[in-house]
Amino acid sequence: MSDSSDMVAQGDTRADTVCAEGRVVLEARGVTKCYELDEVEVHALRGVDLQIYEGQMMSIMGASGSGKSTLMHIVGLLDRPSSGSVTVEGEDVSHMSANELAAVRNRRIGFVFQSFNLLARTSAQANVELPLVYAGLTGTERARKARAALERVGLGDRLSHLPNQLSGGQQQRVAIARALVTEPSIVLADEPTGNLDSRSGIEVMEILQDLDAQGITVVLVSHDPNVSRHAERVVHLKDGRIVEDEMVQNRMMAAQQLVDLGDDDL
Ligand code: ADP
Ligand code: MG
Repeated sequence: MSDSSDMVAQGDTRADTVCAEGRVVLEARGVTKCYELDEVEVHALRGVDLQIYEGQMMSIMGASGSGKSTLMHIVGLLDRPSSGSVTVEGEDVSHMSANELAAVRNRRIGFVFQSFNLLARTSAQANVELPLVYAGLTGTERARKARAALERVGLGDRLSHLPNQLSGGQQQRVAIARALVTEPSIVLADEPTGNLDSRSGIEVMEILQDLDAQGITVVLVSHDPNVSRHAERVVHLKDGRIVEDEMVQNRMMAAQQLVDLGDDDL
C-alpha cells in the first residue's frame, strides 16, 4: 500500500530529491534559533530548510543537543525562529500574533511529549478533555469526544484511571488521545518512546503508524534509529543543520513486530 505513489511532486524541487510527494503542510525556510543564556549564545538551529508533506510519516533524528526539539517547537508554532520563516499550508505565520498562532496550532496540530505531561490528580478522561475546554462544547460533548479518543488508543476501559494508576505506555497513549481529541491533521511527537520499555514503545509506534495510515501527518523526533525506521522518511540533524534526508528502506511495521513478539512478555 502506498499513498504517496499516486501523489506526484508538483513542481517542487526538494520533493524531487526525496521522492514523489504530496502537498507541503509545514515548511521551515532558513530557520535559525539562537538562545541567549547568561550572555552565552547557543546556536540551536543554523539555517534549516524543511518541507513536511501531507500524510508522510517523518522522523527527525539526531544526537542529544542537535536541535531536534527546537525544530519541532518551531514548526509546531510553540516557539518562533530567530530568523527565517515557517509556513503552514503555504501561509507564512511570521507575522501572526501569539493568539493567532495558538488558533492555528489548536486547529491543526497535536503534540505528544516524551514525559507525557499529564495532570497527576486528573483522570485519563479529564486529561483528554482539557484541550476542548475552550472549544465552546458542552460537558456531554467533551466527554463523548474524550471517550472516543481514548477508545482510539485502546484505553476505552481506563477512563477513570489516574496517571499513576496507568503504565508508562498507557500514560503515553492517554497523551496521544489528548493530542487527537481536537482532530488535528498533524501530530508532532518529541521522543514519544523515550521513557518507555521496548514493548510499550512499539505499541506507541503502532498507534502512530495507525494515525499515519488514517492520513494524519505524523512527525516524530528520535535519537534512536530503530524508532526512526517506523517512519517513511528520516531527516538527520547535526549541530543545528540538516545533514541527510532519506527515504526509509525496509520500513519497520510495529504491528508486525508485536505479532513477532507474541504474548510472552505481556
Ligand atoms: P535535542 O532535542 O536535539 O536534544 P534541543 O533542541 O533541545 O536539542 O537543544 C539544542 C541546543 O539548544 C542545545 O545545545 C540546548 O542546550 C540548547 N537549548 C535548548 N533549549 C534552550 C533554552 N530554552 N535556552 C537555552 N538553550 C537551549
Ligand atoms: Mg529534544
